Amino acid sequence: MLREVYGRTSLVSLFTERVDHIRSELGVTGPPFDPYVYANALGIRVLEAEGMVADGILRRLQGKFEVMLRKDRSEVRKNFTLAHEIAHTFFYDEMEEFGEKYRSSSNYDREEEHLCDLAAAELLMPKEFYLADLCSLAQRDPTSQGARIICPNTIITLTRKYKVSLRAAAIRASVLLPGLIVAIWNIDDGPVRTEWIAPRSAVSLVLCVARVSSVQRVEYGCSGLSIQQDSFYLDGKLIMRKTASQPFGRGAVFSVLQPPREMAKQLSLWECGA
Ligand SMILES: [Zn+2]
Repeated sequence: MLREVYGRTSLVSLFTERVDHIRSELGVTGPPFDPYVYANALGIRVLEAEGMVADGILRRLQGKFEVMLRKDRSEVRKNFTLAHEIAHTFFYDEMEEFGEKYRSSSNYDREEEHLCDLAAAELLMPKEFYLADLCSLAQRDPTSQGARIICPNTIITLTRKYKVSLRAAAIRASVLLPGLIVAIWNIDDGPVRTEWIAPRSAVSLVLCVARVSSVQRVEYGCSGLSIQQDSFYLDGKLIMRKTASQPFGRGAVFSVLQPPREMAKQLSLWECGA
């Protein structure tokens, strides 16, 4: 829908630039970047209600925006939902001109939803801050001199610092560091399989179990953190990735597959603050 309004302009940059502008104009600081501070500064009323089906609803009443959040959701989930609904207000009028029908639940605009998720991530985890933190929280890699590695704990620390869910933090890291893959493996019974993975393009990832991987080392209880050069199949192709794995509750392993070294170098991940 927005594409019809803005034609060829990159929709992603349209949203992220709007977020950047809003953050600096409103003087919102962080981390954490509090979505309630954004809402307040933008004059958006935030309420909570019980018995809601959706996580959040945006309404405009007498020219004023109001977001209703589902009360029984966790704090981090409410944070993301609120940021997402705030993003919907950015181009509300432009969308409105195309009529009411697309807002009906059966015909919601998938692209707009995706853009609002991206904008929500940018509101809560602004690129420059998040990348700098990913970099400074990366640990020295004991298996490779001078190299640094993003560990599961790096992502977990970021969830606390930015008050976001593990999924939101992992997806954001995979968006900002192309090639980085975050996986939760289920090792409970039978073959190791993915419980959850980011980015979505890596959904076909399969662990190659021919040699002992970092995931299996954790599974066998070898160590708290295991770093190995692991093999995987991705889209049917064999790939090797330096992987950091650690236990993640009962029957699960949390892994971060590092981006291919050349990609990480471009982003100066390996050079920063070593
Ligand atoms: Zn939405």
